[in-house]
Amino acid sequence: MLISKMKEVWICLKAGRVTLPYPFKPAIPPDGFRGKLEIDKEKCIGCAGCANVCTPRAIIVTDLNGDWRKIDFYLERCTYCGRCEEVCPENAIVMTKEFETATNSKEDLHISVELYMGSCQRCGRCFTPVHPLDKMMVTGFREN
Ligand code: SF4
Ligand code: SF4
Repeated sequence: MLISKMKEVWICLKAGRVTLPYPFKPAIPPDGFRGKLEIDKEKCIGCAGCANVCTPRAIIVTDLNGDWRKIDFYLERCTYCGRCEEVCPENAIVMTKEFETATNSKEDLHISVELYMGSCQRCGRCFTPVHPLDKMMVTGFREN
């Protein structure tokens, strides 16, 4: 009994330190870590692919009218699965290494993107123009 316990102690000592000194020293997550997501508003084409795959409904798409689409990211609901990053055809979403997301206000975890889209002549709903140049043909393109 005593010998087996001594062996256990020896094995533990041999392993050395296996924990990080975080939060006293910064912890750098490894490559591939899925932290708080970031969205590049310039790259997003409003296809809603990210919202379709988001299981906890952290991404909500709203058509404000026939021309403007709003995409809201409610990151307090995010489970960091990374599916939105995976399916985004424009690589507009990136899972960063940021993991310190504690906050007193949920608003800090809210990202809102408003995009000028094309307007379908038949149904009047927003759609993604085939080519970025198509957007340039529209009067009032990206006023802000
Ligand atoms: S990482 Fe997953 S849960 Fe978070 S917004 Fe993207 S798809 Fe939704
Ligand atoms: S999948 Fe990418 S391009 Fe499509 S709406 Fe989401 S962020 Fe924008």
